[in-house]
Amino acid sequence: MSKKPIIGITGAYVKHNDYMEGVYVHHDYHKSVAVNGGIPIILPYINPEIALETLELCDGIILSGGEDVDPELYDQDPHQELGPTTPERDLAEIAMAKYALDNNIPLLAICRGVQILNVALGGTLIQDIPSQVPASIQHAQKIDRSLDTHWVSIAKDSKLFDIISSERVRVNSLHHQAIGQVSSELRVVAQSSDGIVEAVEYIHPTTFTLGVQWHPESMASTNTKMNQMFTEFIKSCSKVTV
Ligand code: MN
Repeated sequence: MSKKPIIGITGAYVKHNDYMEGVYVHHDYHKSVAVNGGIPIILPYINPEIALETLELCDGIILSGGEDVDPELYDQDPHQELGPTTPERDLAEIAMAKYALDNNIPLLAICRGVQILNVALGGTLIQDIPSQVPASIQHAQKIDRSLDTHWVSIAKDSKLFDIISSERVRVNSLHHQAIGQVSSELRVVAQSSDGIVEAVEYIHPTTFTLGVQWHPESMASTNTKMNQMFTEFIKSCSKVTV
């Protein structure tokens, strides 16, 4: 008998007004998980200890998009264009990223998630692409998040290439930060034409470990290649019991 894998999706922070603030996840994440046979649950951030206890309930984890990462965590002062940060979320997600890698829990890191993954493993970030990367292309697209706006080139001998089956793919782009110095434990497997890191993989993979700077969850319903990322991820999370 098999059971559906439980996929934890880390929550972002949204303040609606003085009376309403808290965890938020774009519904495209839950939909992409459910369509591909997983049970999505949203993980609130409280502290690293509780983060690891909630992760224990999960067969796989998605580090989702959201706020800028606190630059103190990679030993930098804040750039003028740094956006709002949520240090409690940063610390909870860094703990979960490390735990997932150490315990062979499948990990899909999306947008901010790939940045957290890099910081968790000792890398740094570009705090604001438009002001820090000369001649960069537009990474904060002005059209609907489901639409692709730029190309990325994919390394041929990568898990990502196995999924996408192409050396180039069109992606959406909703970020103003990006990976700076790449962790020695990660390998760059996709880049945009301006050299921005668009995907990384763990150099010691024992299970599915992929981070992408774009938002496949918002393309998956209309794009089979992007949906395939969730299919492969959730397949790797499946535990078959007899
Ligand atoms: Mn981009």
